[in-house]
Amino acid sequence: MNELKIIDLHSHSFMSDGIATPTELIRYAQVAKYSIFSITDHVDLSNYKQVIDTILKLKDINFYPLIFIPGIEITHVQPDNISIVVDYARKMGIKWIGVHGETPIEPVIKGTNIAAIEARVNFLAHPGFISNTELKLAVKNNVWIELTMRGGHSLTNGYVYSKGKNIDVNFIISSDSHKPSDLFNLEKYMATALGSGMTQEEFLFHNKNLYNHIINDIL
Ligand SMILES: [Zn+2]
Ligand SMILES: [Zn+2]
Repeated sequence: MNELKIIDLHSHSFMSDGIATPTELIRYAQVAKYSIFSITDHVDLSNYKQVIDTILKLKDINFYPLIFIPGIEITHVQPDNISIVVDYARKMGIKWIGVHGETPIEPVIKGTNIAAIEARVNFLAHPGFISNTELKLAVKNNVWIELTMRGGHSLTNGYVYSKGKNIDVNFIISSDSHKPSDLFNLEKYMATALGSGMTQEEFLFHNKNLYNHIINDIL
């Protein structure tokens, strides 16, 4: 698995419910030999402008060799209002937008998954018992679907992967870190993928696919 790059596009700093400063978390990701990393703090209608303004201050800092992408995770926003935050974030230059999907362990509002997919966000985090119709629309709208290491949210990884793998869903594998010790190392990254039901070959394929997407379409 030499070609494998650690690409982790979902994490939280103290701007939401994480404990580290953004730069502290990025430093730990560098030390963990990450290739590409995103901080995606929880935003809703009460805080999205402040969080976006703050995370974008890191946009032009060189964290070489790590590629850092400022992001957001739209969380517990009424489905009808998701596009308000998406439109503002896009306008301000946020290139990695996620939505906190219908995880089985939280009362996320029903309709959040489909609203995220229709708003063409970049990724849908922990989508829980997502339907085939939603997954097909995610493929069409280029919305990437998450398999997660985060406890609880990870309960449906196997369900999500087994539904999505036959219809060419694009998958991301995330740590959803809330502190530096939550970050991936190679073993945890692989365990999340293989534990979701991927073979090593499939994991390499999805890893390369995501790398190419970020390099060619996002940066
Ligand atoms: Zn989430
Ligand atoms: Zn999260």
